[in-house]
Amino acid sequence: MKFDSVIVGGGLSGMVAGIALQKAGQSTAIISTGQNALHFFSGTFESLLSPDKRIQTLFSEAGVRLHYSPGVRLTPMGTFREAALSLEDIDLFPTPQFARKVLIVNFLGYHDFFSSFLADGLEKQGMQCRVRFLNLPELEKLEQSPSEMRSVQIARTMDRIWEKVVQEIRVLLKDEDAVVLPQVFGLQDFSVPTRIRQGIPARVIFAGTLPPSVPGIRTQILLKRRYQLLGGSYLMGDEVTRAHIHDGVVHSVVTKNLEQHYIEASHFILATGGYFSKGLVANPFQVYEPVFGLDVDFKEDRNEWYNPAFAQDQPYMHFGVKTDASLRALKDGRPLENLYAVGSVLGQTRPEFGSAAGQAILTALAAADKILGL
Ligand SMILES: Cc1cc2nc3c(=O)[nH]c(=O)nc-3n(C[C@H](O)[C@H](O)[C@H](O)COP(=O)(O)OP(=O)(O)OC[C@H]3O[C@@H](n4cnc5c(N)ncnc54)[C@H](O)[C@@H]3O)c2cc1C
Repeated sequence: MKFDSVIVGGGLSGMVAGIALQKAGQSTAIISTGQNALHFFSGTFESLLSPDKRIQTLFSEAGVRLHYSPGVRLTPMGTFREAALSLEDIDLFPTPQFARKVLIVNFLGYHDFFSSFLADGLEKQGMQCRVRFLNLPELEKLEQSPSEMRSVQIARTMDRIWEKVVQEIRVLLKDEDAVVLPQVFGLQDFSVPTRIRQGIPARVIFAGTLPPSVPGIRTQILLKRRYQLLGGSYLMGDEVTRAHIHDGVVHSVVTKNLEQHYIEASHFILATGGYFSKGLVANPFQVYEPVFGLDVDFKEDRNEWYNPAFAQDQPYMHFGVKTDASLRALKDGRPLENLYAVGSVLGQTRPEFGSAAGQAILTALAAADKILGL
């Protein structure tokens, strides 16, 4: 199998790189073991603090609508966090006081949405809150097994019965000017959040639940679909185990499922994520990159990995694969000619690209541009 470019890892950075390269006419493959950070996504793209036409276009062509509005977003715990760019159905407010009176609606038996924390948090901001539970017979079957009563399973049901939910909320609504609902809408029918907003005569805010994140999974589905529509090959559920490297050039990679085959390419992109996705691995002695054995920037003294103030910035989150100015990954102190590292696998080694989702997108686009010679 031979491609122009092979991308190892199919999270946000891998998919953005894949879309950009396919759109420019390359033949590419994304190989990805599975779950990625989008499954835990809040819906806001951290560190992207100004509008960027190229990013907006890439996402909107995939059907992912974004909005840019610097301010704060509501967290699942009822606190507020700074944000500027988010998915269209995730509200950004200029200040935390987004309403006078708020109705928080949950579903009986659903424990992954923290309605009382939300009420406490909003009341601290001077908003009056009422929490109500809808008793929906359609969810009874899910309730029989606690593992079924999760956001994604509920979202599948909600895509069918959202109109009934709207009617019940209209009956509950008194003089509240805002309604807060769990983010369990629009998993397969992407128009549902907008239609709910149109159906309720108050501002509707969708607040986060415990993972998996429905807006994150929707984003993953749409980006993957766009990549495949552009002709990309997405090899899901496979893991790149090793690479063939000669004279500073990567020739091919080998996967668990295709052990007998060499997957060759002119260019490779490493988009395997951080510790969470096993793009970086830590043992008691070192932090290492497991596929290509790349150089990793980390502190030799393990005592310097952690900040004892638990909630503060943690040094280990800054460790990551070393690269040159063009994002080419270093091995034994020298850049590999055709391997670029993007996204969370970089840790905070390249702060000029920001952090979190901002870093994932900007580094992916920068690597794609290098490959295309732009
Ligand atoms: C739990 C969590 C929540 C986050 N929430 C937010 C948020 O709300 N907003 C925000 O801005 N940022 C968030 N971030 C930061 C996040 O890291 C970035 O936003 C971004 O999504 C990272 O994308 P990525 O593609 O670099 O890595 P990932 O999303 O981690 O994707 C890496 C992929 O590579 C695959 N992979 C790993 N090794 C191999 C291999 N050997 N072969 C094949 N595939 C492999 C993994 O299975 C995974 O699918 C969050 C991070 C985490 C860990």
